[in-house]
Amino acid sequence: MRPFDYQRPDDRDAAHAAARDGATFIAGGTNLVDLMKLEIMAPDRLVDVSRLGLDGIGDADGGLRIGATVTNSDLAADPRVRRTYPVLSRALLAGASGQLRNKATTAGNFLQRTRCPYFYDTDAACNKRAPGTGCAALGGEMRNHAILGGSQHCVALHPSDMAVAMRALDAEVEVEAADGTSRALALDDLYRLPGDTPHIETSLAPGDLITSVRLPVPLGERQVYRKVRDRASYAFALVSVAAVVRMEGGRIAEAALAFGGLGTRPWRDAEVDALLAGEAPGEALFDKAGEVLLRDAEPPEGTEFKLPLARRVLKAVLTEATR
Ligand SMILES: Cc1cc2nc3c(=O)[nH]c(=O)nc-3n(C[C@H](O)[C@H](O)[C@H](O)COP(=O)(O)OP(=O)(O)OC[C@H]3O[C@@H](n4cnc5c(N)ncnc54)[C@H](O)[C@@H]3O)c2cc1C
Repeated sequence: MRPFDYQRPDDRDAAHAAARDGATFIAGGTNLVDLMKLEIMAPDRLVDVSRLGLDGIGDADGGLRIGATVTNSDLAADPRVRRTYPVLSRALLAGASGQLRNKATTAGNFLQRTRCPYFYDTDAACNKRAPGTGCAALGGEMRNHAILGGSQHCVALHPSDMAVAMRALDAEVEVEAADGTSRALALDDLYRLPGDTPHIETSLAPGDLITSVRLPVPLGERQVYRKVRDRASYAFALVSVAAVVRMEGGRIAEAALAFGGLGTRPWRDAEVDALLAGEAPGEALFDKAGEVLLRDAEPPEGTEFKLPLARRVLKAVLTEATR
């Protein structure tokens, strides 16, 4: 591990000043420190954001504002989250382990890097780690890679469970730039598809500080998160589905679905939501939703098993959410 400077300011102005000098933010460190040990990321200056007063959860326009440094454990256990956004609580608890969730933060979870083994293997070609070197995954051994949103340069998955639930809940990330100006970003605008620049994963500029995430009132009370993985805990999703559904008179009035383990970013498809709206729940409809979701899927060799798996998980989740 290379030497680095570490600073833990008590106010945002100091954090912004350090960011203007090229410092990298660190929160729980559960991803960044691993990447530094492997020399995949090598910042020479770290700014710890844990003392910036961003650790509160409060009401916001009938919804909720969650501070960037709220830990995954605290967020999952918050009574307002458990009552009104159970899909988020369940997604968080399906991720990592108790110890990790005690350190991992909301902003860090959004910005965690992929788990593609070729990204972590510094001897392998990886356009995300070292732009222009190629992609050892394509043509290599593949299993937990993306079948949606990939490119010929990268098929790495976005690994977060929390971000999948946040996408189904229409979360917006609130960001302060290094010059102090602020803006809000829908997750659709935060995460970029890899295209031919897979190393640029988000629309954040260097020095942008995530300060909080805002959840609107959920569109429905029926909420489900289901995650399928290789073992029962402590594993990333092969396929996960977050569903938020509002029923009216036995029909699906509105639905918001998001998917993990399938896409190069937490996946949402407006056509799936639109197909379900106004319809009576049933097997044929749920099968059709699977077809629509996977219409543009391009499973690299070794990942074809995700097609039937995604259809089955989606069907099970919709059955549970609409019964
Ligand atoms: C063994 C293991 C298993 C795991 N399993 C799962 C799993 O099943 N599901 C899952 O979803 N996750 C899983 N994780 C990932 C874990 O959830 C993430 O490591 C964690 O959420 C990252 O949060 P952090 O606060 O530690 O981020 P850090 O490591 O501190 O930072 C991550 C990135 O975010 C940036 N950052 C942090 N805060 C801010 C901010 N406020 N503004 C701007 N940038 C910021 C940092 O610069 C860095 O680039 C696992 C991790 C491990 C080690």
